Amino acid sequence: MSVAEILFVVAGLLIGLAFQGGMLLFLIPFAVVAFVLACMNRPRLAGPNSTPSTAPLPVISLRNRSTGTTPVVAPDLRSEFRNVSGMANEPEAALKVSQVWARANADINRSMTDMLRALKAVVPHVNSVLVFTQMENPKEWGVRNYVNDKEISVNPCVRITENSGLVSQLFRSGVNRLLEGDLPGGKSLLYYVDNSPIKSVVGVPVYAHSSGLRVGALVMDSTYPNAFSDVTAQALSYVASAIAMLDYKGFYSAQKHIALQQYSGLYNYQRKFFQTMTVKDIYKQIINYVKDNVAYDRLTILVMDKGDEGTGRVVFCDGVDADQFANKSFTLSDKGIFVLSLMRNRPVERSFSPGFNEYVPRLTDNEKRNLNLRQIFVMPIAAEPEAAVANIAICLESSSSRPYSDHEKELLKAFAGVAGFAYDRACKFEQGKDLAMRDGLTGLINQRTLREKLRTEKIRADRKQYNIGVLMMDIDHFKSVNDTYGHPIGDVVIKGIADAISGEIRRDIDIVARYGGEEFVVGLIETDAEGMVETAERIRKAVQKLVFDVHRAEPLRVTVSIGAFLVTPTFNGDMAKAVNNADQALYRAKEGGRNQVVQFQIEAEPAAV
Ligand code: GH3
Ligand code: MG
Ligand code: MG
Repeated sequence: MSVAEILFVVAGLLIGLAFQGGMLLFLIPFAVVAFVLACMNRPRLAGPNSTPSTAPLPVISLRNRSTGTTPVVAPDLRSEFRNVSGMANEPEAALKVSQVWARANADINRSMTDMLRALKAVVPHVNSVLVFTQMENPKEWGVRNYVNDKEISVNPCVRITENSGLVSQLFRSGVNRLLEGDLPGGKSLLYYVDNSPIKSVVGVPVYAHSSGLRVGALVMDSTYPNAFSDVTAQALSYVASAIAMLDYKGFYSAQKHIALQQYSGLYNYQRKFFQTMTVKDIYKQIINYVKDNVAYDRLTILVMDKGDEGTGRVVFCDGVDADQFANKSFTLSDKGIFVLSLMRNRPVERSFSPGFNEYVPRLTDNEKRNLNLRQIFVMPIAAEPEAAVANIAICLESSSSRPYSDHEKELLKAFAGVAGFAYDRACKFEQGKDLAMRDGLTGLINQRTLREKLRTEKIRADRKQYNIGVLMMDIDHFKSVNDTYGHPIGDVVIKGIADAISGEIRRDIDIVARYGGEEFVVGLIETDAEGMVETAERIRKAVQKLVFDVHRAEPLRVTVSIGAFLVTPTFNGDMAKAVNNADQALYRAKEGGRNQVVQFQIEAEPAAV
């Protein structure tokens, strides 16, 4: 016999004795303690429905009982959990806050059912024992657990509201027991599906362990008249307080378990962040963490654009009306509460009461309004903690009646610190990479990057069977520009020409690089000879039209010479050879008088005589 079984027997004996004429009533608390201990010591059976993969909940030890702390998260997530619509978050979220709650709830339910079963077994003539508990609306109780004889069925979906029959009397603050021994025949009790021949009812309120408020009721009934006495009512109230305690302890330990997991999860994320170098991955980690750890009905992640434009966009939105925010851009002058948090680099929170028709814009004033989202909490993330404007904002909204808890806010704050550091590091890394790839004066890619890009483009072009046009260009008589106007003006000219070239090609498709000092290479993707020469001519003319104000009587004008070579799928050479061919054509263009485009011609083999 296990400890649990012994304790169950002891509890049963004590309750049995206690009900013998009411003389041994003082035994009830001992019975309850023995019973609760028995429930807690019961070994977990590995049945077919058991889920060995989930971590066990911490055992509720006696030591825990002395902590007088009020649960912070529990009531909130608890109501989230009870919400029929379930958790709004992704079902596959990794931390499984909902799973922990579900498990705690299942454990509590099982213990509670056992307790009710024991009550039914030891009190004579009981038909049903039921526990009612508060629903979303405190003025509404539903059936939480019940045990009964199957002949008369309980309706588990019933709602008891004020003035809705016998049990509803227990809502009233003056009423601390309900005792009826002679109900008129056939009078239906609200919680039965059919008219029930119940004659006796005894019930007591259940008071929340933490707040002392009435949050439900414990009710027993019988088909026998006068089945219960004052003694039974008194005994029931002891059991009711044990139920409240069980509920509280169960949720309290689940809450502690979650909090611990959430904080240790932070370390995991810190590690993940260290393995992450790209800004995009940082966003992903942020999304994952929030999804896994905080309940929400809508989650929106805002990111500021790089540079000083004061603009940003929504990189992620999940939940209620997510479509309206996804990928939306905004500016810091938009009057939304999310934007406010970014702009001030401060967390922002708002709470709305139902029925007040209040709404504050989240991003802009013309968005779709949803008055059910009653809680807002925005946590900004900044690359530098003291920055005036943040870089990222985590915007949480929930339809729960309770604001986001201190625990959740603290958790996000700690996370934001870690994420901010990682974000800063990723930004700097990407900047460095960019610097290594690009030329500082023109912002164009450099020769090394060009070589890589042309190589990958060639592979794709061969696979898809299209041509690449290669243009090599060089500024005409540039030495004399430097000599006449000075090197700095020469630089301005180089930058001006780089911009002019970029303006004539397809952005994001074609490639343009600063190849050397005053030489540029353009790669025209998917073109033909005609299109290539046309583009080259356009570039030549665009440069010719440039006017540089050099504070002299005559403005400065320059020209370029361009050599062109078309890489066809049949070309048997690499891209270095292609660039070289374009360079040879450029040489001809210089020879031919400059400011012109010359296409490379493969010299015909001299015909055999
Ligand atoms: P050509 O028409 O034959 O090309 O005559 P050119 O004078 O332009 O001759 P070349 O192309 O050989 O001239 C290269 C000159 O470009 C030499 C160098 O002083 C100048 N140069 C190269 N890089 C830079 C740069 O970054 N800034 C400035 N201001 N001048 C540069
Ligand atoms: Mg040159
Ligand atoms: Mg030159």
